[in-house]
Amino acid sequence: MIMSTDAEVSKNILEPSERIEVNTLTIACDGGGGALGHPRVFLTLKDGQAECGYCGRRYILKAGIIDRTGL
Ligand SMILES: [Zn+2]
Repeated sequence: MIMSTDAEVSKNILEPSERIEVNTLTIACDGGGGALGHPRVFLTLKDGQAECGYCGRRYILKAGIIDRTGL
């Protein structure tokens, strides 16, 4: 019995959005351009992640990158 596995599955079901790993705390998203694109917006990662309000993409800070926004 592994409870954590069940939690992981449930979380994934609730988060169908595309996840993109980044290595900076400030990123620009334009939806990838083309038909699915949107005006470029800049997002600042909080707690290692940020979600684009236009396309719903979720940006995840790569492991090993130090979040220094609190300094
Ligand atoms: Zn976007």
